Amino acid sequence: ERKAALSASSGPGATSDGHKVPLLANIGGPADVAAAVEAGAEGVGLFRTEFLFLDDSAKAPSEAKQVEAYRKVLEAFPEGRVVVRVLDAGADKPLDFLTPADEPNPALGVRGLRTLLDHPEVLRTQLTALAEAAKGLPVYLEVMAPMVADRTDAKAFADACREAGLQAKFGAMVEIPSAALRARSILQEVEFLSLGTNDLAQYTFAADRQVGAVSRLQDPWQPALLDLVAMSAEAAKAEGKSCGVCGEAASDPLLACVLTGLGVTSLSMGAASIPYVRATLAKHTLAQCERAAAAARATDSAEEARLAAQAVLSGE
Ligand code: PEP
Ligand code: MG
Repeated sequence: ERKAALSASSGPGATSDGHKVPLLANIGGPADVAAAVEAGAEGVGLFRTEFLFLDDSAKAPSEAKQVEAYRKVLEAFPEGRVVVRVLDAGADKPLDFLTPADEPNPALGVRGLRTLLDHPEVLRTQLTALAEAAKGLPVYLEVMAPMVADRTDAKAFADACREAGLQAKFGAMVEIPSAALRARSILQEVEFLSLGTNDLAQYTFAADRQVGAVSRLQDPWQPALLDLVAMSAEAAKAEGKSCGVCGEAASDPLLACVLTGLGVTSLSMGAASIPYVRATLAKHTLAQCERAAAAARATDSAEEARLAAQAVLSGE
């Protein structure tokens, strides 16, 4: 019975009326690939490359070591999509040799792309290793930068990718409200957006993601967060580009329907959540997801938004 349920929920992600929403996996490295393949992930939507940098806190891993790790992941998804995020150091992911020790507010300091632009050699090595790893493979490589604030950031990243000779799509994560507000201008420099809803919630609500006391404000059902998701997805649509979600929000089956209704084009999550999201999405039409999204946005709290979406999606 369990097997039947699982096979009924295998295959590509789509609404009941066939609107495709690729379901991708968030991974931390080659060790996570087996679970992603097992769950039927259609590719990788977020390869957090930080893990490679954890072995040695004094320096970056060699290019050869990086090529080996990237190649293992790319080989696991022949013909599939793999979105690699360049190093996101700083704040909740500090690295001794890169992260300033004396910042009063590390989450608002030098982290993500900011760190890489201050250490261009680290970014260059990573991009060169990715170009080398992808050589000769049919995989559809996409590379994105964390913590892009504006068009200047997006251009600096795209320039670095071009200089490294990378044959890939370049993208920007939307994790800072300014990036959602000016998504169209960022899309003049890059080919896709990916919403990091964990950090986007943190910066929208001025609520540290590591502080449990403010977790109410970290709830991805917050209507203000849904507004920023909608804004980003609409901008991408207007530019004929894609806008995925790779934050925790995508792993909540009901919220996944709402995100789809807001216009998000792919969902990336921990492998274990993929079967549940696939099954829930398959029960609703795109129009129903859109109605649920509108109902959620019309409320004034995360709790009400969840209930409003639930009412729309269960009353069918
Ligand atoms: C996010 O911020 O939502 C995200 C996907 O990145 P991370 O959780 O690694 O910061
Ligand atoms: Mg983030």
